[in-house]
Amino acid sequence: MGFVFNGRFTLRVRLRYAPFLPTASGTADGEIDLLKQFFQAVSEILHDATDGAHSIGTVLIAPGDSGSPLDSDIQIFPGAWTHATEENIWTSGGRIEYPRDELRIPTMLAHELGHYLYGLFDENVGSDGSVSYICVNDTLNCVACLMEYYDDAKKRQWKPTGGGGFRNFNDFKSQWQNGTAVLTPTGEPSEFCDDTNHTARDPTISGDPHAHDQNVENADKSCWSTIADDSDRGAFEYKLTAPAQALAASPASAPAPTDLVVLLPTQRTVLVLDRSASMTGAKLDQLKDGAALWTQVVESPEEFGIVSYASTPHVDLLVSEVPVSGSDAAWRAAGLAAVNSLAAGGSTAIGDALVTGLSEITAGGSAAGQVLVLVSDGKQNAGTVDALDVVPQLMAAGVRVFALGVGGDQDAELLAAIADSTDGLFLGIPGDLSHEMMEEMITDLVIALAG
Ligand SMILES: [Zn+2]
Ligand SMILES: [Zn+2]
Repeated sequence: MGFVFNGRFTLRVRLRYAPFLPTASGTADGEIDLLKQFFQAVSEILHDATDGAHSIGTVLIAPGDSGSPLDSDIQIFPGAWTHATEENIWTSGGRIEYPRDELRIPTMLAHELGHYLYGLFDENVGSDGSVSYICVNDTLNCVACLMEYYDDAKKRQWKPTGGGGFRNFNDFKSQWQNGTAVLTPTGEPSEFCDDTNHTARDPTISGDPHAHDQNVENADKSCWSTIADDSDRGAFEYKLTAPAQALAASPASAPAPTDLVVLLPTQRTVLVLDRSASMTGAKLDQLKDGAALWTQVVESPEEFGIVSYASTPHVDLLVSEVPVSGSDAAWRAAGLAAVNSLAAGGSTAIGDALVTGLSEITAGGSAAGQVLVLVSDGKQNAGTVDALDVVPQLMAAGVRVFALGVGGDQDAELLAAIADSTDGLFLGIPGDLSHEMMEEMITDLVIALAG
């Protein structure tokens, strides 16, 4: 879901809870301020470990369980660890599951980003599950690699000024609000191992302590060699080179500050409907049937709008919030009227339609969940923009595209490419759909969107 531009990552973070607020008197900050400090520290660690190549530019926060897990790079859940990171940023729907308890230790998330951003594996865990494996210098307390074993006490973290540790998240939260929790200025480890200090397995040693997951899974390569290898990342290429020397000096300057943006806690869906001449007849009837159904099943407080296109796009229903049940009759009637007014004629400008869909879905600010449902029955043959050229903008805006191809002339390859690159979904529907099948499909989609 996330992306990198000029070495700066944009990461989407979904909170599985309502964040704590600033104190009523305004004397103590709330959790969004804590998250800002936390991600700034994580960015500094990442920047140091990658010798200045990478840092975190923007963090988009979806608060209070809003949006879908599929909209996130990192989900923060209440409590302690349940499992670690097994996904990568270039994997569709991949993300980090991170416990709120560990917001006190930025080094911890920097380690998880090692897995997620670069496909690194642990150097502190072996395939037998034991946590005593090592990489550099044959010592369990070395400071050279974020993926290796290291003492909790050495990590960059908040500590109580009174000494000791925090009892739990609430204790940390109160002390942070009281100013008695202080972030340590530096911490270890702060580097990734490279070819000069990484130790591969020795086949002559039985029970070799270097048989950790990074060596086993990544062919005995050092973390930096793995980072520099783009071959398994598809279009997601970093083009980084490993440093020549061990423990490269820290970057000369700190990374630019990390921006933190709180997303509107809503799911926003915009239908982008094909009304080209080839839709005339049964296909248009089915399209209207499905779109009409959608206007009736979408629920408050979701936001919804409709764009249609042929040779040019048209906004049929401006994006707006579905009113609460009981006050929604006029809203739903307006949706139905917009659908019923669709008439077929003209060519197929998919790219222009996506541009209009993108501008409609982001007009009201960034929402936690943003999905364009693109319906098309044919090849792109009109318009000013190529659909694939809109994809980077969709990714940058965090908009997922669910693409529905209809009939025998659909451009399945194009629709699948758009859906895949935006972490959406492609569904090809070969022929006619009964009302019942349509109902089932739309209900499934609405559930999938809500996560
Ligand atoms: Zn790990
Ligand atoms: Zn190593």
